Amino acid sequence: MIKSDCHLHTSFSSDSDADMSDMVSEAVKCGLETICFTEHMDLQFPAKYDLEFIFDPDEYINHINTIKNTFKGKINILTGIEIGMKPNLTCEYEPLLSSYGWDYVIGSTHLINDIDPYYDEYWEGMDEKAAVNKYYECVYKNICGYNNYDSLGHLDYILRYAPSGNQKFSYRTFADIIDCILKHIIDCGKALEINTSGYKAGLEAPNPSADIIKRYMELGGELFTIGSDAHCPKHIAYGYNSVYVLLASLGVKYYMVYENRKPRAFLLK
Ligand SMILES: [Zn+2]
Ligand SMILES: [Zn+2]
Repeated sequence: MIKSDCHLHTSFSSDSDADMSDMVSEAVKCGLETICFTEHMDLQFPAKYDLEFIFDPDEYINHINTIKNTFKGKINILTGIEIGMKPNLTCEYEPLLSSYGWDYVIGSTHLINDIDPYYDEYWEGMDEKAAVNKYYECVYKNICGYNNYDSLGHLDYILRYAPSGNQKFSYRTFADIIDCILKHIIDCGKALEINTSGYKAGLEAPNPSADIIKRYMELGGELFTIGSDAHCPKHIAYGYNSVYVLLASLGVKYYMVYENRKPRAFLLK
């Protein structure tokens, strides 16, 4: 099965109040061998939202080191970060990414023109298809402007918040722009994250969905990372049985775990 969860948040992320050791205890109970904490760092997140999505990296790394000692021999704990990409942010993340020994960096797009699609504000007065397309265009712009990440986070995450969910939209609806994104990450040697929180969001699919995963493989992509995006212990490894069945049916043989920013392949079995 899948023995790693490489997308986890704790109270170091402003949208979680989970205690890190509770998260690790639950991961051990779930039988995971490796976990990676990937706290939110969204530089220049608009002040109009109450959440800040910034943490103190020194405090974070020190805390992880303490937790690693506590759970020594029971589970492998990795130090990651989920950066919020924006078109105007290029070198702003560099001091942070080069100053600490990160294992894994997820590059995610959470904002479109400084609006969070989590809120109705984004969807109001806009054609739904155009609003989803705009998100993909923004992802493409972000990855063309910034290369220092390992895996592209939850690619079709916008569908979690689209009024009609993923029922209406498939890869084909946005094939041109999604192909541009997939070809770009393949050319740059980046992984595609399979984020299982889509199951929790009622999409009955991971983010991205099967047709995008399939297309990534058709184009030659072979680096997959897997994570639940859990913000509390009960969501660790969420949907792992379903995602295992899905990935196996698509012919995925391996998934990657990044350590010291380098991928290591694990057999999906
Ligand atoms: Zn995210
Ligand atoms: Zn996340």
